[in-house]
Amino acid sequence: MQATLLETKKSTMKALVYHGPGKKAWEDKPRPVIVEADDAVVRITTTTICGTDLHILKGDLSVVTDGRILGHEGVGVVEEIGAGVTNFRVGDKVLISCITSCGKCEACRKSEYSHCANGGWILGFKIDGTQAEYVRIPHADNSLYAVPPGMDEEAMVMLSDILPTSFECGVLKGQVKPGDCIAIVGAGPIGLAAVMTSQFYSPCEIIVVDTDENRLETARSFGATKTVNNTDGKAAQKILDLTHGLGVNTAIEAVGLAATFELCQKIVAVGGHIANIGVHGKSAILHIDKLWDRNVTITTKLVDTSTIPVLLKVLQAGRLDARKLSRHRLGLGEIMKAYDLFGNAAQERTLKVILKA
Ligand code: ZN
Ligand code: ZN
Repeated sequence: MQATLLETKKSTMKALVYHGPGKKAWEDKPRPVIVEADDAVVRITTTTICGTDLHILKGDLSVVTDGRILGHEGVGVVEEIGAGVTNFRVGDKVLISCITSCGKCEACRKSEYSHCANGGWILGFKIDGTQAEYVRIPHADNSLYAVPPGMDEEAMVMLSDILPTSFECGVLKGQVKPGDCIAIVGAGPIGLAAVMTSQFYSPCEIIVVDTDENRLETARSFGATKTVNNTDGKAAQKILDLTHGLGVNTAIEAVGLAATFELCQKIVAVGGHIANIGVHGKSAILHIDKLWDRNVTITTKLVDTSTIPVLLKVLQAGRLDARKLSRHRLGLGEIMKAYDLFGNAAQERTLKVILKA
């Protein structure tokens, strides 16, 4: 009986496949199967595209090889489980963390899942990812989260990466406190998510910096109290003017360029924090001659997604409007068009693009 069932299952699926810098295709790939006892195979119902996927497509991350299925965000239904999976059953609706973690190694025991000795960020990077009809998730017990009944999938998929990244790397590392004046440099989806999650701590000023006026307008609708257009390169002076020459308690870098990291150094107040979120491909200057006596803390971090359970509670309580992070909704089969929309974010006013199977 089981053999017949397996035979009737298709052995191929559609997936978004990387074929070297600038090349991608929506094509047939073998359907993933259980390899290790703690694996699960998940049928994707909702996924999305990350700025990091664009970096990969540009060829910035040479670890990614020809033939790799991209994507590290998603919600789906457990289709198959290995013999060692105990937290999930076939048919369960699950959220996929962008970070795969064994839950057992030294890093995992400290909740530093992104540095898991047996995982970390591997999905859509070192192993096949979520922009497909099916995906194999290693260490399923620790890398998947149950989706509560009735939860909105479009909001839920923002918990795979963007919301925990902005919250953990930006807001928590930056130690945003009530009454603080903070600046968020970069009003792309991650910067906007930081505008949202910083408000858990009631900062009195949220200054958002970008060079795109549309994005700044969006930032205001997300709760930015002031916006600074840096097209003229004078953002540092404008922010010092806005803060009576003091600078900001926390400067969150949400771009990943040397210039934006150096801007954070110019606007941080005495005793303040610079929290880097951006993925940097080049070195930046540390102006230690200006900062040595200013009691400043600089932090870097790769998201652990250890705050998913907390963010899920906030989402469930209706205290976080995660749907605002997406404006475009397409079918999974329209993913090539979705990449065009996401790649031309400025012209299309694109935030996250939701892809539904
Ligand atoms: Zn990502
Ligand atoms: Zn681990």
